[in-house]
Amino acid sequence: MSHPAPSTTRLFSHATAQAPGKVNLSLRVGTPRVDGYHPVASVYLAVSMLEEVTATPRQDGEITVTLSEQSSAFVDPDAIPVDSSNLAARAALRLREYLGRDPQTHGVHLEITKQVPVAGGMGGGSADAAAALLACAALWDAGLSRQTLAEIAAPLGADVPFAVMGGAAVGLGVGDELTPLLARHPVHLVLVPATTGLSTPQVYGLLDQLREEGGLPMPEADPEVDPQLVQALTSGDAEELALLLANDLQVPAATLVPELSEMLDVGLEEGALAGQVSGSGPTVMFLARSAEESFQLAARIEDRTGVAAVAVHGPVHGARVL
Ligand code: ATP
Repeated sequence: MSHPAPSTTRLFSHATAQAPGKVNLSLRVGTPRVDGYHPVASVYLAVSMLEEVTATPRQDGEITVTLSEQSSAFVDPDAIPVDSSNLAARAALRLREYLGRDPQTHGVHLEITKQVPVAGGMGGGSADAAAALLACAALWDAGLSRQTLAEIAAPLGADVPFAVMGGAAVGLGVGDELTPLLARHPVHLVLVPATTGLSTPQVYGLLDQLREEGGLPMPEADPEVDPQLVQALTSGDAEELALLLANDLQVPAATLVPELSEMLDVGLEEGALAGQVSGSGPTVMFLARSAEESFQLAARIEDRTGVAAVAVHGPVHGARVL
């Protein structure tokens, strides 16, 4: 469908949007489908580690990307493509095509300020795509609903719709069939990003291999979300939530990066209610009882290991224009 440019042209010099990184409080993974994708049952939580994208119009039709120097110290700039394969650039291109805007004149420059670790299992690239989408939608006066924007960007990655929607949600299918959860109580976490990333396909591949070889049990049925975990999340019961965190990707991730097991031990020894690898890793997350405890826990982990640890909370809003 083609959307004509509005007759009254608004002259935005730029637009800035933010989108959150995510953790999976629970990530159950089934055996690969015939199309090669894994069915998952995930409980997503958007956390207060935000990506920011500023979109500035370019009259030459080009879609370009740079990484801001304000990005976090644990973001390795060399790990991020700044060509047309960058997920933010791909999101802008999809939106321009959807809107039917002239590719000769409707270019955009995207400056990304990253806080979310690259290839860290927190959906950072997906958050960049979501923020780019909202920023470009504002710049081009798209007049589209959040739901439509999420659908436009869904083919870019299973985590993109959640980065657009934010909050907390159950994700089925490949993680893109979202059901929002009414989680009004904050969950307090400490995140320990790793300096190097892990390839998501490699982690899924090792899960399949370990299951086939008998090193891990085969799942009995299609993955499902534990209703007790949803209950613990929506009622804000951190102690109960701690007992129910789950991640089928943790064993393969910790097999590929053995230091993850040591970091999990450190967090528990320092008083975390529970610890778990986030998504496909290698970011490790710890659950705390309160904001105060999360700050204390982050400081103790940093003191003991010399590795940066960040106190965050969720759920937070999805992608939004500032
Ligand atoms: P997920 O949890 O969604 O599997 P992730 O958080 O582990 O993803 P990302 O940070 O999204 O991983 O990056 C995965 C890969 O995508 C990177 O290794 C990088 O090559 C590529 N990539 C493309 N665009 C971006 C972007 N804007 N930011 C980060 N990585 C990007």
